[in-house]
Amino acid sequence: MPGSAVRTNLVLSALPASVRQTIAADLRPRYLHQHETLDFTGDVVFPLDGVISLMKGTPGGLSVEAAAVGYEGVFALSALEDVTPIVQVPGESLTMARSAYERQLDNREFRAVTSGYHEALLNFAMQTALCQAFHIIEERLAYWLLVMYERSYKSTMYLTQEFIAAILAVQRPSVTIAAGRLEDRKLISNARGRVTIVDVVGLEHAACDCYAASGHVLLGA
Ligand SMILES: [Zn+2]
Repeated sequence: MPGSAVRTNLVLSALPASVRQTIAADLRPRYLHQHETLDFTGDVVFPLDGVISLMKGTPGGLSVEAAAVGYEGVFALSALEDVTPIVQVPGESLTMARSAYERQLDNREFRAVTSGYHEALLNFAMQTALCQAFHIIEERLAYWLLVMYERSYKSTMYLTQEFIAAILAVQRPSVTIAAGRLEDRKLISNARGRVTIVDVVGLEHAACDCYAASGHVLLGA
């Protein structure tokens, strides 16, 4: 959980000790740089405190965040049409060669843990679709900031309003108004692309019910 001194990945820690031992030699540390685009055919990534957004785009160039992968998950999808995996919050991760990951999928316990996570990720993406259709921007922004916070352990994030607008698929002035309201309520501070969560509990109350529905499902709480 945020604030913990130990960086771990919940998919890896959910594996039986015997499986963790088997894969330990295949894991390598990798720093995820902000705005770095990952490759679906490249290494599998287990974030420790970085967050990867799965951006779904249209052929016309519009895009929106469909889901995010942090320390609760693994970026192992081999292909998704018109989806760009981009690092949203920089941080540490462990990576594994795709060939090693595919070999591990022969292990029933490894497969059970990773497929369980992918079901949760699908649930997250469906919740996001619902959120975009029905919830107001202020609530969505609060929800999204909490998702980033929980997956990165970081209460301060470097996010321009243009960037947040692109993530939430709204106009920049709408983000300015929504962020201003959250600031007026003393839930966040926001200056020159530096967004800090000041009151986590208050932000939870400001978020739409998607936060309770999908955020905690992913974290297993
Ligand atoms: Zn929502």
